[in-house]
Amino acid sequence: MRDATRVIRAGLPKGSQGDPFLPGPTFAATYHAAGDPASVPHTYGRFHNPTWTHFEQALSELEGGPTIVFASGMAAVSAIFGAVLRQGDVVVMPSDSYYTGRVLANGYFAQMGVQVRAALTAGNAQLAQLNGAKLLWLESPSNPGLEVCDIAALAEAAHNVGALVAVDNTTPTVLGQRPLALGADFSVASDTKALTGHSDLLMGHVAVHDPAWADRIRLWRTQIGAIPGPMEVWLAHRSLATLELRLTRQCHNALAIAQFLARRSEVTSLRYPGLPDDPAYFVAAQQMQRYGPVLSFVLKDRTAAENFLSACQLVHEATSFGSIHTTAERRARWGGDAIPEGFIRLSAGCEDVDDLIADLAQALDAAH
Ligand SMILES: *Cc1c(COP(=O)(O)O)cnc(C)c1O
Repeated sequence: MRDATRVIRAGLPKGSQGDPFLPGPTFAATYHAAGDPASVPHTYGRFHNPTWTHFEQALSELEGGPTIVFASGMAAVSAIFGAVLRQGDVVVMPSDSYYTGRVLANGYFAQMGVQVRAALTAGNAQLAQLNGAKLLWLESPSNPGLEVCDIAALAEAAHNVGALVAVDNTTPTVLGQRPLALGADFSVASDTKALTGHSDLLMGHVAVHDPAWADRIRLWRTQIGAIPGPMEVWLAHRSLATLELRLTRQCHNALAIAQFLARRSEVTSLRYPGLPDDPAYFVAAQQMQRYGPVLSFVLKDRTAAENFLSACQLVHEATSFGSIHTTAERRARWGGDAIPEGFIRLSAGCEDVDDLIADLAQALDAAH
């Protein structure tokens, strides 16, 4: 089956006469559960919920491994750190990956005795840091710089030294890149972004290659309590059905916007892994099925970037990405990333691309 079919069928129970296709959310803190708890399918709301089970089944089918859903992307990221890393362990991080993940590793986990090594995503620079590592953390394309690394080659090198491999797959989603098929032990994502794609909920998940790790990750969720609400999970499952439709339009729009920006003289350092002359294109084309909704570029300085963003009518100035709504932001306003003041991250939505390009053109003219 192709992606568009798979996302619509994913996780739907067999059902019997009179049942809905996707059962509604189950709101339960506690369930009828007399006698031996081991003989009751559902006992308490922090342990299990049938709405999670349907969505986890859907993601497992797409990821190719058992999947555990979390309250946010960071809850999913920290579940891997927490379940894998112990005092004295070495984790090899990208130095240019999602900011909060690096802060968590360099803050809490470093204080707990984990050694953090960092290297750039571009050029597979993490390869040189692997000796003695317990965990290799990858993010490709990286956020916000959109650099790409060779996931299969890095995973093989990590496994050769006995390290586990996790890939933050938020930007491409599982339809754009399959980390488990490329050799990763963990595929982790913020489903707040393109996977659910409506700018209206936070969620995350971890998919694992080895079912034994699924038990440990699930135990972490149960003990920490980083569980999603059933309403959000049901909305996420409903949104998943249109993932292929949305991503097809978003990737088409992102490429057309990148091609438009490439012709504008005030735009420099344009990056989109799906542009054939992008430095990341060669590796990206080998391991990605789609190049995602996110692109980045640089305007002259902070003022030019701010003027551009406030002149946009259709492009919402907002953080986050991957939604049906086109958004952009001047990323340096947050700090923490090695980027110029005029750096803009833009996430293509599902609007008509001619409308978007006309809006970007008038905003670039106005920012001059
Ligand atoms: C947003 C994001 C996260 C964190 O996800 P939340 O849902 O905001 O907790 C992690 N990794 C990447 C690459 C992200 O973009």
